[in-house]
Amino acid sequence: MKVYLNGKLVDKKDAKISVFDHGYLYGDGVFEGIRAYNQLIFKLKEHLDRLYESAHSIMLQFPFTKKQMEKAIIKTIKANKLKDAYIRVILSRGEGDLGLDPRKCKGNHTLVIIADKISLFPNKLYKEGMEIITVPTVRNLLEAVNPQIKSLNYLNNVLAKIEAINSGHQEGLMLDHLGYVAECTGENIFVVKKGELYTPPQCMGTLRGITRDTVLDIAKKLKIPAHEHVLSRHEFYISDESFLTGTAAEIVPVVKVDGRKIGNGKPGKVTEKIMKEFHKLTKKNGVKYTL
Ligand SMILES: *Cc1c(COP(=O)(O)O)cnc(C)c1O
Repeated sequence: MKVYLNGKLVDKKDAKISVFDHGYLYGDGVFEGIRAYNQLIFKLKEHLDRLYESAHSIMLQFPFTKKQMEKAIIKTIKANKLKDAYIRVILSRGEGDLGLDPRKCKGNHTLVIIADKISLFPNKLYKEGMEIITVPTVRNLLEAVNPQIKSLNYLNNVLAKIEAINSGHQEGLMLDHLGYVAECTGENIFVVKKGELYTPPQCMGTLRGITRDTVLDIAKKLKIPAHEHVLSRHEFYISDESFLTGTAAEIVPVVKVDGRKIGNGKPGKVTEKIMKEFHKLTKKNGVKYTL
């Protein structure tokens, strides 16, 4: 495997960074997860826009233009001869000293691009649906670390994931500080009630997921009414269907929350329709590259 590290493609075993990198010391950096399907990079513009917005928000000056980034991403995928890929772009503050002061990093950003294969969950879950559980760790406060920033500081989500795993679940449902549903540990969440779609609004400590936005577009196309609306756990329990969305996870049906069956306990009709349409979209749209 070839990894892009600060402008060069190097072997995986040589893709090493400094122990003084503030991305390592403090989680001081930003990232994106992007997918390519059949030599088409899905929603690349949206991912790059969000990456630059995350960097801007933490006052990290991006070393390249978006066009240069696009080229670097394509170069990395091609070097690994991948028709389908999961691409991770990571920009950290770079090497500094042991202090927190970001000025010590002097703009030595570390830029890494990894193109690989990923399957987040077993295939079976996509067919039969997933059981999730509400976890004690609350999603980061807007006024602390805004969940809109896709930052390397991911401990909030890691703690939630540990809690889900400790209770024998694959995913954990995270609430905000008021007890409303925010999102799962790395995926957005939807419910279907009486044929209409609901997902928590961005202001509820929910990352504005690109897959989430894609699902909202699909709903419009399929004439399924969709709402961004606050949701409590109760509304979750009494919904007819539910599913998770994320670039790595794609769309995963949810069939049980906190031991409560959702609908008839099987992936729902609306969910399946949306999943089908999503896979159709990913096959036809994106930034093309040739191997
Ligand atoms: C990346 C991410 C998502 C999913 O967003 P996509 O743009 O669909 O990949 C959801 N929640 C969190 C916390 C994330 O980091």
